[in-house]
Amino acid sequence: MARYCGAVCRLCRREGEKLFLKGDRCFSTKCALERREGAPGQHGRNRGRFSEYKLQLREKQKVKRMYGLMEKQFRNLFKLADAKKGITGQNLLLALESRLDNMVYRAGFAISKNEARQGVSHGHFCVNGKRVNIPSYRLKPGDIISVRERSRTLDVINNAVATAESRSIPEWIELDRKNYTAVVRVLPVRSQIVTPIKEQLIVELYSK
Ligand code: SF4
Repeated sequence: MARYCGAVCRLCRREGEKLFLKGDRCFSTKCALERREGAPGQHGRNRGRFSEYKLQLREKQKVKRMYGLMEKQFRNLFKLADAKKGITGQNLLLALESRLDNMVYRAGFAISKNEARQGVSHGHFCVNGKRVNIPSYRLKPGDIISVRERSRTLDVINNAVATAESRSIPEWIELDRKNYTAVVRVLPVRSQIVTPIKEQLIVELYSK
């Protein structure tokens, strides 16, 4: 599966917003967004005029990068969200939030979404007792995520669990740190997703 392999801090600088792609570093003074002003590149500080299209495009790029998706994956997810009953933007957010890599990050088993995605691909996590190595796997209420028995001694997972103790875990996840498991109690509703996203702009962009 294709993935972005460039410098991730560039992505935050391009969007002018923290996307939290590097774990601890994002909360420290080493964050590139705090040290360097403007978008990356020679003309970073002078990025042209405002337009509605630009606003919609930047919002889509931001969300896509936040969840570590490439354009094709993101567009396919949008098509599914659009085909479902209900509000398309909210369906899209729900689809993004219920991905296994996102839930692994939200439960605190990884310090960033990128790391969660890698951990899932490397087979460190199970869903309902079965190993799942597909980051886009969609979770349902009642599903149990667990760290594989043999992966529980890995520093990268234990460091993430220790770091996450100071982070709040969303109310839709029931976490049992001692046993390295998390239960998806319910899927979140829009008001519970606190990430600053204006999903309507993405719907408008793709509806053109
Ligand atoms: Fe973004 Fe984190 Fe890099 Fe800061 S440290 S620019 S928040 S990825």
